[in-house]
Amino acid sequence: MPGAEEGPFKQASNFSVATAEARNLRDLRNRKYGQPIYVSSDHPLARKGQTATWEKFNVRLAVVKFLDGVVLGYDPADLLLPTCFENARPVFEIRTCQSCRAPFTLTQQEVEEKQEPTRCPACLEF
Ligand SMILES: [Zn+2]
Repeated sequence: MPGAEEGPFKQASNFSVATAEARNLRDLRNRKYGQPIYVSSDHPLARKGQTATWEKFNVRLAVVKFLDGVVLGYDPADLLLPTCFENARPVFEIRTCQSCRAPFTLTQQEVEEKQEPTRCPACLEF
């Protein structure tokens, strides 16, 4: 549902990891403030590949805070969820789609079973 992230939502009780249904913040139904995410957007390029925490939504943008205190807004689809948590630290296993070059997160199951998809979820639908 477009724009669903703008309305009120039920807060999750725990931080989320990537699943087959939800690999980024946009796809996540219940989110928790402070959710660790991986920035896959090129804008600005210097922040690409950094991890940050999601703070809030501001109109259409998901506002995230970086470790150095900088706050920026992103399309929630560009904020990837962690593969898993190890000792309460997020672990991001990021791959690049062989069709469209978009980065996406592997799920823990895909890592454990060594069955990594070579295309992102959007490309796999076709
Ligand atoms: Zn793709």
